[in-house]
Amino acid sequence: MHCIFCRILAGEAEASLLYRDDRCAAFMDVQPVTPGHLLVIPIAHAVGLADLDPATGGHIFQVGQRLAAALKASGLPCNGIDLFLADGAEAGQTVFHAHLHVIPRVKGDGFGFRFPPGYPQHPPRATLDVQAESIRCGL
Ligand code: AMP
Ligand code: ZN
Repeated sequence: MHCIFCRILAGEAEASLLYRDDRCAAFMDVQPVTPGHLLVIPIAHAVGLADLDPATGGHIFQVGQRLAAALKASGLPCNGIDLFLADGAEAGQTVFHAHLHVIPRVKGDGFGFRFPPGYPQHPPRATLDVQAESIRCGL
């Protein structure tokens, strides 16, 4: 078994587990962006959004939401939360077992998205409408 997260679930690799049920588990990120940064993962191996069972994806979000509340109550510095899932290498995914990051945020923690040159811009409404139609066609 080569997947590090499957190995964690099988008890073959160490992790600081904090939650587990029949569909997902959560443990501390080994390289936390901020203290308390944790990951929620499906028990069944899925690489990303395309092969993640949608009901499990919803469940992972619900557990992430509960854990966000638990983080705020934990005493760890946490004035805000980022929920983040990187789907694909070009989106920043480095571990190819789907995972939802739950990242505590405080003012001045130095973390954040980097925006492309020229941002912010306001495309014409017609452009947004065309894009919306393209996406709608994919539903
Ligand atoms: P991503 O770049 O979205 O794929 O995030 C992968 C995350 O997994 C990173 O934040 C890593 O620090 C974390 N990570 C990698 N290996 C382990 C591990 N063995 N235990 C806990 N977290 C890990
Ligand atoms: Zn896996």
